[in-house]
Amino acid sequence: MEQWTPPMGGTLRISNPKTLEKWIHNGNFQKEIDDGYKFYVGCGRFRTDVCKCSKCRKGKGKKLQEVIDKHYTNTI
Ligand SMILES: [Zn+2]
Repeated sequence: MEQWTPPMGGTLRISNPKTLEKWIHNGNFQKEIDDGYKFYVGCGRFRTDVCKCSKCRKGKGKKLQEVIDKHYTNTI
């Protein structure tokens, strides 16, 4: 089992699609979005600004994106 990390923008990372799915289901994901964060699938981080890390630039995180697409029809 993964360790539980309290929702904290910036330091929190979600790299496992299953964890992301859990977050969407339990409402934590939406809470971060409501707080003004945007989720970047490349590095699995919540940020308020645009993420320019190399992973995001290379378009990583397709599996995480699929999970989001499954639950959200609109672009976040
Ligand atoms: Zn990034």
